Amino acid sequence: MSERLPCQTPGCTGTILPATALKTGGICMPCYQQKKALEHQAYIEQNRKEVNRYAGINDPVEILKIMHSPRRHDPLIQEVPYPRTAQEIYHGLTKEERDRMESYAVDLLEEEDTDQAEMILLSLACFTRGEIKLGLEAFMREEIYHPSILYKDAGVEIRSQLIEKVESDPANRNHLLLALAWIGDEAVVRQFAVWRESPPEWASALYQPPEAYARFAGWELDEEGGQRWLFHRECYPFKISAEDSTEAPATPAAVTVLQAGMQSCPWCGGGLTELFDFDLQHPQLEFMKLPGKRLRIAACMHCNCYGTVYMKADLEGRYSWSEYNVVPEYLPEHGGGTYEADWREMRLSEQPAGTYESAEWTLEAPASQIGGHPAWIQDADYPACPCCARTMTFVAQADMGQVADDEGIYYAFVCRECLITAVNYQQT
Ligand SMILES: [Zn+2]
Ligand SMILES: [Zn+2]
Ligand SMILES: [Zn+2]
Repeated sequence: MSERLPCQTPGCTGTILPATALKTGGICMPCYQQKKALEHQAYIEQNRKEVNRYAGINDPVEILKIMHSPRRHDPLIQEVPYPRTAQEIYHGLTKEERDRMESYAVDLLEEEDTDQAEMILLSLACFTRGEIKLGLEAFMREEIYHPSILYKDAGVEIRSQLIEKVESDPANRNHLLLALAWIGDEAVVRQFAVWRESPPEWASALYQPPEAYARFAGWELDEEGGQRWLFHRECYPFKISAEDSTEAPATPAAVTVLQAGMQSCPWCGGGLTELFDFDLQHPQLEFMKLPGKRLRIAACMHCNCYGTVYMKADLEGRYSWSEYNVVPEYLPEHGGGTYEADWREMRLSEQPAGTYESAEWTLEAPASQIGGHPAWIQDADYPACPCCARTMTFVAQADMGQVADDEGIYYAFVCRECLITAVNYQQT
């Protein structure tokens, strides 16, 4: 046995075998690894280069192609980010530019780069008003029926094919029903009503009845077999105040977001938060058709992470804890965190946004908004009104990533008949 030697690093009490000392220059393995890591870090810092992949490029289509292309992680390269988001660029595309993006996606699909093709088509479907035709035809050829939201503007031809395939393609039935739900035109509504009336044999193998798929696209069948929408098509986004200096807040906004309430939560004792405060007489909110002065939707932001919180509200701005609330099965004690401290101030934009702007959560668009389709992170989860049992209407959501680099989204709902509000929360 050879004698162990002390490690040469000042302050280190490690000992090493002579063979190790030869290899490391007299220091122990942990010290040696630390030294190497520091050298490597110093090397990266000295040799790292800034690379601007957008330098000299003005064509928005080329810029988007670069944004969508996968990048290899290289510690020696520091990418200069583009000053605008993909969402902003998509908003400004002309018809001709949208067509070019779409045929680029079709090319990618043919090269079997499905992920990239998907992201481009999703962006076109959610951020622009154009219809994606070639892209869908390519998806149909490949028998890809998801992300199902892509099908929302599909034409008659594709819709008929999908209805036929539901009967004959059990492996894809789930996605086919979702795609049909997103199309949601008269023929789909009629077909869903027929399936509800006389459930087909294959329906027993699904985890929910065929007509229940409509929820995922924001509607349901009413008692008569008609279509009942669960969200408003009108949509206004909240923007971080500093980012949006062009919009001078001369007049009060139609809706204010995330203010401390006066009441406390009966479950955890923490303060309630007024997530949304609607000025119902503001012309911007006419689309909500709520005749009154004010609607405040409050919740406990802590307890809400574990279950739905209902409030009894009126149209004068008052609210109170609903007798229908049921303590969630799992409800940890309040951590005592003061949320509000780090929140960014948001202001409701007066410029409308597209209905589906944030509907596809994977596009990572900021999602705080009133109206529009919800940005579900998990499955669509419209609560039933605890009073009349009807599905509640989605009215607004607060995206905590946008507010505070935090996680999750709070979704707010109203039953206009019973004047009950509900708030749900989802995170990854
Ligand atoms: Zn050592
Ligand atoms: Zn609470
Ligand atoms: Zn109700």
